[in-house]
Amino acid sequence: MKAERISNLNTLELDNFNSVIGALKEKFGEMTYNAWLKFIKFEAYEKGELELSVPTRFIKDWVNSNYLEHFYNLWKNGDQTLHTINLHVETNPAAVAAKTAAEVKPLERAKDNIFEVSSKKDIEKMGAALDPRFTFDNFVVGKPNELAHAAALSVAEAKEVRPGSNPLFLYGGVGLGKTHLMHAIAWHIKKNNPSRNVIYLSAEKFMYQFIRALREKDIMSFKEQFRSVDVLMIDDVQFISGKDSTQEEFFHTFNALIDQHKQLVISADRSPSDLEGIEERIKSRLGWGLVADVHATTYELRLGILQSKLEHLKVNVPKNVLEFLAHKITSNVRELEGALNKVVAHSNLFGREINIENTQEILSDLLRANSHVISIEDIKNTVSERFNIKVADMNSSRRARAIARPRQIAMYLAKKLTTMSLPEIGRKFGGKDHTTVIHAIKRVEELMGQNAEFNDDVILITKLLNK
Ligand code: ADP
Ligand code: MG
Repeated sequence: MKAERISNLNTLELDNFNSVIGALKEKFGEMTYNAWLKFIKFEAYEKGELELSVPTRFIKDWVNSNYLEHFYNLWKNGDQTLHTINLHVETNPAAVAAKTAAEVKPLERAKDNIFEVSSKKDIEKMGAALDPRFTFDNFVVGKPNELAHAAALSVAEAKEVRPGSNPLFLYGGVGLGKTHLMHAIAWHIKKNNPSRNVIYLSAEKFMYQFIRALREKDIMSFKEQFRSVDVLMIDDVQFISGKDSTQEEFFHTFNALIDQHKQLVISADRSPSDLEGIEERIKSRLGWGLVADVHATTYELRLGILQSKLEHLKVNVPKNVLEFLAHKITSNVRELEGALNKVVAHSNLFGREINIENTQEILSDLLRANSHVISIEDIKNTVSERFNIKVADMNSSRRARAIARPRQIAMYLAKKLTTMSLPEIGRKFGGKDHTTVIHAIKRVEELMGQNAEFNDDVILITKLLNK
């Protein structure tokens, strides 16, 4: 009797379910239905809680971020009692057996969707604008960047795609010229080989367009744009964030493009093997081609860059001021340029000549920030000393508070006082996960707000480090 009642209820809800899926199919189209929606299975409905399942985590992530809200609203229109939808991955053996097939399907579909037809106008719409100053002519070559420069130039000059240079993967710290080199490749090809189609865009923009195309059934034009691209450049791939499954798809696209003999140029702030949250096989694929890193600048390179910039600015800055800047502003080229511009602007504005004194005055903040680079070792040493623990405990997993707390403080300071990323910090503390670092930072911030003594301690250590 009871079983019958439930099954009757389910029949009713199942009808609801089918009509909502039908409405979604209408709204998003046949392709979306086949790629995602048809995998959603009705499991149960009880007291406003709807249980749905899909065969894989991949599909779950995608449905969750793209269709579940629509699903919810549509259902709600017909049945106010709904308050929660639980979407889970089906765990019965049959589903697990079907998993691989289902997982592969949407990926392949997405991959297939990238390529078709073509139009130059659309291609140009797709990319980001190129900075006219970022050419090879304006790029000063020195020891730290000669490899990256040579690699970029070889790709720019190549008449056809060479497997050994595909992808070209440029990596290095912020403001060291990666974007400049990518734009330079694009300018070079535009000038010498105007029939080749080049697209440059940030990883974020690429990702955004990719996902939007999938969502808005606008895949045709997206496909179009890629079909006739010869060189695709994607800047700052470390910023690709979001669901693992979306990332996965993004990199599958890379793969597909390489298979189609499109030249890819990729930049990141770290090497392929250091990219976080990306499968090993994808990382290794990214490192298959030509990998070139841009090292931190040297004094000679910085001076060379300043001189080259001055030629363009057509102003006179005394040699000792240039040397002073090249000595003092060591962080990156962007800051160095910024410093020079600031000094020049100031002197124009006030009609004063430029000398070391007023340069120091104008740049006092920047100079202070560049005055002293704090290393993770400094931080570990200072914190251990302060709390009277062994430096080695900074890398251990011991949870005793007397050790764990200082370690958390050190992680917090590492984030605050160095340019290291969370995963890098985790690694430096005995190979911990970046979530451990996030937790440490949150905890320290909390304690600083709650406990004045603790707060003073952290400030004192910061002062010691900044000396
Ligand atoms: P990244 O992309 O590595 O963060 P950018 O390419 O944006 O760095 O470079 C930052 C600034 O420094 C840009 O204005 C760029 O023109 C300049 N720059 C970097 N390296 C050089 C170089 N070797 N010669 C001339 N300018 C450079
Ligand atoms: Mg850049």
